[in-house]
Formats: sequence, C-alpha cells, structure tokens
Amino acid sequence: MRQIDHFISGGSGGAATRLGDVFDPNNGSVQAQVALGDQAVLDRAVAAAQNAQPAWAATNPQRRARVMFNFKALVESRMDELAHVLSAEHGKVIADSKGDIQRGLEVVEFCCGIPHVLKGEYTQGAGPGIDVYSMRQPIGIGAGITPFNFPGMIPLWMGAVATSVGNAFILKPSERDPSLPVRLAELFLEAGMPAGIFQVVHGDKAMVDAILDHPAIGAVSFVGSSDIAHYVYNRGVAAGKRVQAMGGAKNHGIVMPDADLDQVVNDLCGAAFGSAGERCMALPVVVPVGDDTAERLKAKLIPAIHALKVGVSTDTSAHYGPVVTQAHKEKIEDWIARCIEEGGEMIVDGRGFTLQGHEKGFFVGPTLIDHVTAEMDSYHNEIFGPVLQMVRAKDFEEALSLPSKHQYGNGVAIFTRNGHAAREFAARVNVGMVGINVPIPVPVAYHSFGGWKRSGFGDTNQHGMEGIKFWTKVKTVTARWPDGSPDGTNAFVIPTMG
Ligand code: NAD
Repeated sequence: MRQIDHFISGGSGGAATRLGDVFDPNNGSVQAQVALGDQAVLDRAVAAAQNAQPAWAATNPQRRARVMFNFKALVESRMDELAHVLSAEHGKVIADSKGDIQRGLEVVEFCCGIPHVLKGEYTQGAGPGIDVYSMRQPIGIGAGITPFNFPGMIPLWMGAVATSVGNAFILKPSERDPSLPVRLAELFLEAGMPAGIFQVVHGDKAMVDAILDHPAIGAVSFVGSSDIAHYVYNRGVAAGKRVQAMGGAKNHGIVMPDADLDQVVNDLCGAAFGSAGERCMALPVVVPVGDDTAERLKAKLIPAIHALKVGVSTDTSAHYGPVVTQAHKEKIEDWIARCIEEGGEMIVDGRGFTLQGHEKGFFVGPTLIDHVTAEMDSYHNEIFGPVLQMVRAKDFEEALSLPSKHQYGNGVAIFTRNGHAAREFAARVNVGMVGINVPIPVPVAYHSFGGWKRSGFGDTNQHGMEGIKFWTKVKTVTARWPDGSPDGTNAFVIPTMG
C-alpha cells in the first residue's frame, strides 16, 4: 500500500513506527497510509531547519521573492495533477480543489511583493542628531498545524508568509489528506527554496504536542476546530510561543425582505452545500427577516436544492462530493437527527443518501431544516456538512443579534438592496468577516483572514499585513552619530579609500 512519508531536509523522513489510514471518500476504502511522527521525527526537522534558516534569512528579500514567483509558476503548470491529488483524499470536486489551491497561490502572489512590505519604518531627527528606524526580522523556526478541509490553501496561508519573511517553516498537515502538502513542499524545493526551509511532519496529537513544547519553535499557527484551537493556544503560549489559533464557525446569512431572492438562492446553494459544507466560511444558517421572506425564500430554495447533484470528486457535473470520513458522515447525520428531535422541521432530508456504484462512499445529501431556533444545540454547534438550518427572525434587530450572540464569529453575510441596513449591519455585528451580498466573504490575500470569539484565539489574523506581523519580530534602532571629526576639530571629514 502507498505510504505517505514526512518531508524533512528535502527528502523522506525514514521508517515510520506508527501509521494512520488515509481513506478514499468516494468508495470508503483505505487508499494509503500516512506516517505518524513523534518527537524524534520533529527533532530531525528542527535540526534541518536550524541548519538552513540563518542563510535563508540572510538571503536578500528579492531572491526569496523569486522563489515565490518560481513556485507559483510550478504550481500553475501542475494544477490538474495537484487538484486530483487533493480531491482523491479530501473528496471535494476537482473545481473546488483548484479553487483551494488557487486561493493559496494568491497568498504566494502577495509574498512575491515581500521586499516591499519588509521595508520597515524610519524617522529622521527624532532628537538632536538622532534617527530611529525599525525592521522586521524573522522569528526563526515556525510551525503550522492545519485542518483537512483546505489542504492547499491553509498551508500556503502560513507557509508562504512564514518562509518569504525568512523563517524556516514546519508544517503538520491534517492526517486525513496529507499528500498535497508534501507535493507543495517538493515544489518549493524545486522552485529554489533551500532544503530544511519548508518541511512536512505528519502526525496526530502526539506530534502537535511535540511542536507546542519544542523550545526551538518560536511561533505556531493553527487552524482547526475550536476546542483544539483553544488547547493549542493555551499550551503554546504557556511554552512561551507566539500563537494564533483559528477555530470553528457557524456563519449566518441574513436575508432582508428586499433581497434579490434568486441571487440569494444561487449563493446559498454554493455557500451552504458547496464542498459538502466542509468550509469554515460556509453559510450553514440562513436567517430570513419576516415570515413572508422565509416563505418566499423556501419556495425558491427547495427546487434548487433538489437540483443539486452529488457525485464522486472526479465527476465534473457534480456540485459536491463525499465528506471526508465515515465518522464525519455519521456525525453530520446525528446532528440532523438531533435538530429534528429539538423541534426543527425537516424540509429536505439528505440522510441515507447513496450513490449507485459507490455505496460505501461517504456521501450526505443536501439537507434543509426550517424553524430552527437559537435555543437548539444543533444551532449552537458546528455541523460541518451539507446542512442548511433556517432560523426565522422577526426584524432586523433580531437578525443582527443571532450571529452577534453566537459562540462563533468567523463570517457572516447580509443580503439586501438597502445600503443603510447593510452599513448598519457591518458596523454593529459581532463577527470578524462580513459579506454584503457576498455569501463567502473570504478576504483577498493582501487583506487578512480571521474570526472573532471562539473562531479565533490570539490577536493576529492570517496573511496580509497581519500575517507579516505574526511571522516577524520588530526591532527598533535609535541611532546618534556624533557631529564632527574624531580629533575634535569639528572639521567635516569624508573617509577616503586607500
Ligand atoms: P481538527 O481540529 O480535528 O484538526 C485540526 C488539526 O489539529 C489537525 O492537524 C489535527 O491533526 C490536529 N488535532 C486533531 N485532534 C487533536 C488533538 N486532540 N490534539 C492536538 N491536535 C489535534 O479540525 P479538522 O476536522 O481537520 O478541520 C475542520 C475544522 O477546522 C472545523 O471546525 C472548521 O471550522 C475549522 N476550520 C477553521 C478555519 C478558520 O480559519 N477559522 C478554516 C478551516 C477550517
């Protein structure tokens, strides 16, 4: 059986003592095994990073940028191959895999301009003869711990920024779809990045704990579910590291009575069900304002949901593919059952969905549940599947309060033609990323990505200037150069050669 190995110092990581199964979500079989590393594996990666990082940090930033340009070109030239590698383990359709990789490449594009953002600040004459300047220097060795749902984009959110500013970066990707991150590391090497600067160690909790406790790792960026994010944040900070930890989400789409409902339905089909709902910026809660809006929306939504095609990840006509594991499929179906027990009204039931010829695949049909309320556990918790819950609000204030009071605060969207309502909503909602008639408001790479409340622990976001801040330390120099010549005559002396 194929074995997925670590990528340390430009090569494989050696014999594995523990292995984990990697499934093919399309048919439920085990397609590969991934090495699950331990402290010894991490120590080897850290030693390689320590060896390579000082020279990489001393390389001028335009040369590091050139590696980013090369990497971008390499990934683009292999986009089809990489998207298939991703889809085969994750289950998302090929178009979504290309989108996943493309969003990561946009961060690489941002990093192609790294010389510009590292220029620092300068004040001439802060005192008599005194100038002050600041520079951003790399942390040294940083680590990234990433979730299964964006195995292309999220490693690049972290790894491209971390390395382009001069750090060595050690990635611990999800053990559920670990192949693409290794391919990315290989391509960084091919693009001209020295061995030891972008490495991959696989593993589970044991590897995560080893990273959090390792004294040579100065910064850890985590993306995953909230309980783990909170744990990673606390343990990493206690070990004296800089930590940012992005968590789960339950994003709401507010639909005002004046919204363009055809557009909303189209957007919801993509944002609630696309990628089987396994996106932290999915819209799993729709909040129509007023019963009339709810009824009109539902009438348009039901046929659109029935028209969605669920298929294998290579089916180019499918809207979405299987979820990542059998355990996750069962969890989603349990939450659907729970929501109905709690009083939700089943409108479209996606449980028990099977695809002919792929009966053991991890498929869940699109599900719509109406009359969900803020008191339900199934509303409070992240389901992370193709499930849309409708929570009716009587007015704008109630609609505003739902995402604002929810434990998660990653993204939110409002659909309206009323500029005042949209402006008021964006200003007052207690959520980190807001879309106005944009269902999945993922900021572009030169802005920053991050949620509030239990969607994000730590105080810096991903990529953009926030990413640069996270992966660098500021050093500030206050300099005074004496006036006059060393012999005290005050004659202005220009040193001469020879
Ligand atoms: P997860 O929390 O299970 O895993 C994330 C990482 O943590 C993986 O690398 C995993 O190996 C590691 N991990 C798992 N259990 C651990 C433990 N007990 N101790 C230490 N490490 C552990 O998340 P997932 O299921 O891979 O991804 C889905 C979750 O990620 C969802 O909650 C989703 O909302 C969230 N997510 C958030 C964002 C964001 O930016 N806020 C983006 C993408 C995904």
